[in-house]
Amino acid sequence: MSHILIVEDDPLFNEALCRTLEKAGYSVQRAYSLIEATAHMDRQTSLLIVDIGLPDGTGLEFCRNVRQTSQVPVIFLTARDGEEDMIQAFDWGADDYLVKPFPMAVLLKHVEAVLRRSGEKDQNLYTYKDLVVDLNRKRVCRSGRLLKLTAREYQLLELLMRNAGKVVTKTMMLEQVWDVEEVYVEENTVNVTLNRLKKKIEPDPANPVYIKNVFGLGYTMEL
Ligand code: CA
Repeated sequence: MSHILIVEDDPLFNEALCRTLEKAGYSVQRAYSLIEATAHMDRQTSLLIVDIGLPDGTGLEFCRNVRQTSQVPVIFLTARDGEEDMIQAFDWGADDYLVKPFPMAVLLKHVEAVLRRSGEKDQNLYTYKDLVVDLNRKRVCRSGRLLKLTAREYQLLELLMRNAGKVVTKTMMLEQVWDVEEVYVEENTVNVTLNRLKKKIEPDPANPVYIKNVFGLGYTMEL
């Protein structure tokens, strides 16, 4: 299912957008400001619908920030139909643009089209800060340099990336990377592989920026 984040400060219009999209079978997350939008944005988000005029800034700024780490498609909404806004929206990474007011049926068509196009793009490329993980080719680059990872190290990194923002426990790692269910098998094996992975991907393994220990719970890649 496609997860859509709606960033619109007009509560009634936000509600109307959400209801329309939910009825059409999308899962929807609501945000009314840039701060909320940033908080709600995660790896599950498959489309952003962003109003340009927001109480704490412009949707354009949000899009520009998002584009530093993500290629998630963005549809802008605006009451203004100025040419400058539109050009800037596309310059800063917009995929589509709708001028209010518009019929909800038209919005749905735009959403379908943008999602279809983004599905055709390579969705198997994860970018995380300076790391780029190519799931198709099972390759990892940091700052453009190819890293040599073993199969287990790669699988562990992929698991953490797919769950970015959440805690991945050692039990999950054993189940999903080592394909075993019992923790007693070798928790130390996980530690050894994790440490080797950190040495390869972290610029300074003593102060990790990618893989962080969540004390007593597991590990996480923060968004
Ligand atoms: Ca607004």
